[in-house]
Amino acid sequence: MQNGLRVESNQHTPVADAGYAPAYGVNGLTDGSHCAVCGTVLVPQQVIPALTYQEVALPNAKNNGTITVAVG
Ligand SMILES: [Zn+2]
Repeated sequence: MQNGLRVESNQHTPVADAGYAPAYGVNGLTDGSHCAVCGTVLVPQQVIPALTYQEVALPNAKNNGTITVAVG
């Protein structure tokens, strides 16, 4: 009785490429995968832009009318 685990010649063997979240000044990557046998990228990893701080004016803010928020 076969276990059902067989690799077709036209199928790839996916290996997960773990992504990571961006940090401040450092780009992140989304999760992706590639084939362990032939190296074909199956799910491309996308760059997640690094986080940046941005000053936003708020009429009601106590700190001189601006706050620093994380955008990205
Ligand atoms: Zn392959």
